[in-house]
Amino acid sequence: MARERLYLFDTTLRDGAQTNGVDFTLSDKLAIARMLDELGIDYIEGGYPGANLTDTQLFAEERGLSATFTAFGMTRRPGRSTSNDPGLAALLEAKADAICFVAKSWDYHVRVALETSAEENLASIRDSVRAAVRNHREVLLDCEHFFDGYKADASFALACAKAAYDEGARWVVLCDTNGGALPHEVERIVGEVVTVIPGSHVGIHAHNDTEQAVANSLAAVRAGARQIQGTLNGLGERCGNANLVSIIPTLKLKREFAERFEIGVSDAQLKALAHASRTLDEMLNRAPDRHAPYVGESAFATKAGIHASAIMKEPATYEHVPPEAVGNRRKLLVSDQAGKSNVLAELERIGLKADREDPRIGRLLEVVKEREAIGYAYEAADASFELLARRVLGKVPSYFDVEKFDVTVEQRDNALGQRVTVSLAVVKVKVDGEHLISAAEGNGPVNALDLALRKDLGKYQSYISGLELTDYRVRILNGGTEAVTRVLIESQDETGERWTTVGVSPNIIDASFQALMDSIIYKLVRSGAPA
Ligand SMILES: [Zn+2]
Repeated sequence: MARERLYLFDTTLRDGAQTNGVDFTLSDKLAIARMLDELGIDYIEGGYPGANLTDTQLFAEERGLSATFTAFGMTRRPGRSTSNDPGLAALLEAKADAICFVAKSWDYHVRVALETSAEENLASIRDSVRAAVRNHREVLLDCEHFFDGYKADASFALACAKAAYDEGARWVVLCDTNGGALPHEVERIVGEVVTVIPGSHVGIHAHNDTEQAVANSLAAVRAGARQIQGTLNGLGERCGNANLVSIIPTLKLKREFAERFEIGVSDAQLKALAHASRTLDEMLNRAPDRHAPYVGESAFATKAGIHASAIMKEPATYEHVPPEAVGNRRKLLVSDQAGKSNVLAELERIGLKADREDPRIGRLLEVVKEREAIGYAYEAADASFELLARRVLGKVPSYFDVEKFDVTVEQRDNALGQRVTVSLAVVKVKVDGEHLISAAEGNGPVNALDLALRKDLGKYQSYISGLELTDYRVRILNGGTEAVTRVLIESQDETGERWTTVGVSPNIIDASFQALMDSIIYKLVRSGAPA
């Protein structure tokens, strides 16, 4: 049986741009659009041409994308003609393959927010859709607050949708604008709508205010809708939009959907999903959500020893889908709850062959437990675990020695009479019998130490030139005067590989130093630097 086509519509660049703290530049938008295009998304909504400079520029040039690049804007204003509405003119001028209009479909909003009549609202929809169709654009109509509108006055909400469809709109999109609808309501209402407008012309646009945007989108598909709108990582104002990063693998990997539907994302493109999700977080300078379904670092992480030994035998025992399908990986956590199975599995993953009966495995497990008891957290710091394992198994070269370091923090007036706090670090290292001294200033003591440490490592310098710190997290354990500090540092290299290292000490500089050293040494090990 031929599978039906479902269309994916991404609005990261439009609705996602409404997220608190998100401000895309033109080059961000172009980069995200290319990434979405490579993922196989059918429609990319770029923004509102005419509403701000970035979006106007974005729609001023050809972008060379396979996806249908879509401009968003209002239907003509009440009481105006289509030829005398500057907003509509900007939309029609934009270099866009499709135009998505937004219109009211809740009688309450028409009356109170728009202050116009039901008939004028319908006329505005008809006129705007007709004008865009005449300009050879594919047309979509976002019916704002459709579900609330339908509950209040179903015949008016349907009349708004039908007006657009009758004028030739390719899609009528039912929006749960305030995110308050529940899956069973969405399924019922969409089921009723598709008796009036064919489901192959109906889309769903869900917000996540009851954490059901993904469920609502799937409910709409079950009821007959054939376009799903959403954003990468569920970006969007308030609680966000429907998360395409969760919807896409569900459609591809869950039998109910996979057997009935086809989407534009191939199996190979699906494998790029985790990377796309993390790339967006990186652009936004956000730490990725470790617990994100499918793509989070912990999505396929197992801690308990008994689960781990079953997973090693047969991954399907504890995994709902194979992690590789979405470009993620299985992770067996090494922690004080861990048994030998986790340690062995983790060693195998990092390419260290060890025998179950090897006494060094028992020793490694003991060291991990001892160190976790004093505050180290190896399940969060995979690179530090790898180094520890390699050391216990006798496999880490001694590349260089830090003979001494000195960090000072000074507060003083600068030449302009402003109060400033300056940090300076001096590091003395020995590489290949040669003594090297580096000094660096930083915005804080750890930053200064990091810069000084990586400034000159002699023959190893070329191996670490692409290394950068991407995250630094500090946690005080125990509290009070006995407190120790745990530092977790996330690093990244020129290939985009990321790793996390840990340091623990009563002194925050010392804890940071340990984590920084592990990060550098890990990079040298991975690069195969000579001893
Ligand atoms: Zn929205």
